[in-house]
Amino acid sequence: MEGILKSRGHEIVKNVDEAQVVIIDTCGFIESAKRESIEEILDFVNYKKKHDLFLCVKGCLVQRYYDQLRSEIPEVDAWYGVLAPSQIADAIEKKEPFLVTQPETVYSDTVRNCKGSFAYVKIADGCNRSCTFCAIPSFKGDFKSRSFQTIEMEVRNLVQNGVKEIILVAQDTTAYGIDLYQKPSLDLLLERLNVMDGQFKIRVLYLHPDHIDEKIIKTILSLEKVVPYFDIPVQHGSDKILKKMGRYRTSRELLDLIEQIRDINPDSAIRTSIIVGFPGETDEDFEELICFLKKARFDRLGAFIYSEEEGTMASLIEEKVPTHVAQERYEEVLLLQSQISYERLERFVGRNLITLIEGRRKNKYIGRSHLDSPEIDGNVFVEKTRKISVPGYYKVHITNVSEYDLEGILL
Ligand code: SF4
Repeated sequence: MEGILKSRGHEIVKNVDEAQVVIIDTCGFIESAKRESIEEILDFVNYKKKHDLFLCVKGCLVQRYYDQLRSEIPEVDAWYGVLAPSQIADAIEKKEPFLVTQPETVYSDTVRNCKGSFAYVKIADGCNRSCTFCAIPSFKGDFKSRSFQTIEMEVRNLVQNGVKEIILVAQDTTAYGIDLYQKPSLDLLLERLNVMDGQFKIRVLYLHPDHIDEKIIKTILSLEKVVPYFDIPVQHGSDKILKKMGRYRTSRELLDLIEQIRDINPDSAIRTSIIVGFPGETDEDFEELICFLKKARFDRLGAFIYSEEEGTMASLIEEKVPTHVAQERYEEVLLLQSQISYERLERFVGRNLITLIEGRRKNKYIGRSHLDSPEIDGNVFVEKTRKISVPGYYKVHITNVSEYDLEGILL
């Protein structure tokens, strides 16, 4: 949206005091995200009392709770649901007070205003799956892919602007192409992006554990530009809970999948997400999860406390887990993972890792290797022994390790 607004002659300002229009993008996925979005809106409602500006709120939260929001926060000037960025830009220019239709999750716009070292590129959105804890399909609509050509144009534009890492996202990247090309086509997309000009890498997020297959694994591990990083949100390790979540693979099958990846490339980074406190999760189920995590030894892990979302099947299950129990389980998972993460990272000490150096802090450069997705994983801290151009890829000799990060020197 920034890219589109800029191409139409608008200016993006860093300081809100200079802005005539404020656009708040929201998330309506889980309780904590909804709360954060609403706090942000209320802050700007307060700010607006003393400043003349057009306050516009867009995104998933609006798509999900439009009527309620509009009647409870009338100070907001405009509410826009999940729409293509160009539609939102049109609406803002016309100062339309509301625009909430069927979700428009994918679009052909490719102009970006991204100057950083990495950029997320949406390859599809929406979802046709039915995980019982998840409300996303109800407000994002059906799964829709963007075309190969649109994605290529966007990636070319980003790489020409200096972006070094392209991060492909969708609710479920394994389903890419099912609607447009009648078959899962993530492998074909990766092959096309891999032969594009420029020094950049590609990372794929959100590989659905029930649908990642040998073809995708081998493609990711064989293409030069694609980093060996697998983000596979398994959500649990007890077969009973996996079934209640609407997931098909058993814990044994998930362990086999991890082994299959590590057999081909033992240095692959495998990340997952876990939900604790799902309704009906007993002490035994939680023990099974802990046991599963000890066997799987994920390199990276994000843990979440179950968030009850209205309209989902899981919200109808009566055996709720008390909040304090879920909190204790959450802390136990994080503690276990901090040990596993340290042990997994230790194997890189004394070895060289290609690292994308992205910034400087005092006497260190800060970067990420293939093990690190931005914002959620760790970093590589590098001694500043000489001047280098940033961002850029450099070979780093790893000398030290902490729970989630690595340290090293430039070669
Ligand atoms: S695949 Fe992801 S987005 Fe789709 S229903 Fe499951 S958790 Fe939600």
